[in-house]
Amino acid sequence: ATPTSIMVGTGRAAEMGVLFRHGEALQELKNTQVVAVDKTGTLTLGRPVLTDFDVTDDFDKAEALALVAAAEANSEHPIAEAIVAAAHEQGLEVPKTSSFDSFTGYGIRAEADGRTVEVGADRFMTKLGHELSAFAEISRRLGREAKTPLYAAIDGKIAAIIAVADPIKETTPKAIDALHALSLKVAMITGDNQETANAIAKKLKIDDVYAEVLPAGKVEVLKQIQAANKRVSFVGDGINDAPALAQADVGIAIGTGTDIAIESADVVLMSGDVQGVANAIALSKATIKNIQ
Ligand code: ADP
Ligand code: MG
Repeated sequence: ATPTSIMVGTGRAAEMGVLFRHGEALQELKNTQVVAVDKTGTLTLGRPVLTDFDVTDDFDKAEALALVAAAEANSEHPIAEAIVAAAHEQGLEVPKTSSFDSFTGYGIRAEADGRTVEVGADRFMTKLGHELSAFAEISRRLGREAKTPLYAAIDGKIAAIIAVADPIKETTPKAIDALHALSLKVAMITGDNQETANAIAKKLKIDDVYAEVLPAGKVEVLKQIQAANKRVSFVGDGINDAPALAQADVGIAIGTGTDIAIESADVVLMSGDVQGVANAIALSKATIKNIQ
């Protein structure tokens, strides 16, 4: 491609809210075969809401929710915000915590009112040695409803099964269709539960699902796709997405995302949705074709 055509292409892209941080990205993007997308905050709003909070026999719901919210008040995870908001909406008094630990991709632990509170995914509870077999059925049902099941343990006993749901962005289904119309495969990468990820993927006609991926594992997933001789673009928004944005053949950051994601990306979407990816790839194909 000539410098002039690249300039015209990047200029046209900017008008559509797609910022190419360097000219090579415009040339490379047309070669994309797989678009790998981070789920939370990219396909979904990234603002989950609490949908279920069911306590086990020995626990009081209001007390358990207040303790769980106390622990989550220390976390910056969107799931934490959903739980804290629900406790406030119910007018609960949320106690202060005396200690707090966060385990990325797993969950959290805190001390409040002299009680030990642990909240997180099933793999977190299993790691802590809590028995979950009694909840397998309900957990699968929540997953099929595209909700994320979580557990809370208080003083070492499972106290509640919790679920949050993160709504799909209104623009996402059409954007996925647009990517398919360009003959691209769409892969979803998420730290979320397998069952939940499958339910969301089915709704969105996603081709490949990589679930229960720890933040560092996103890079490994991309390497795996690249090892199969596929050119992959990765779309993400979070702090954790920076290494994946760098590993991808083209890294595409959502403009509403974190600064570190934007700095690690080759392309930035101002619109904040995946339709911009389809627009950018279509534009890359059109620009390069015009000059050949
Ligand atoms: P993603 O960005 O795809 O949501 P994360 O790695 O941030 O992935 O989280 C993966 C999973 O870890 C969550 O779905 C949840 O089960 C658990 N988790 C992480 N942080 C918390 C938290 N503060 N409270 C409860 N669960 C959490
Ligand atoms: Mg994310």
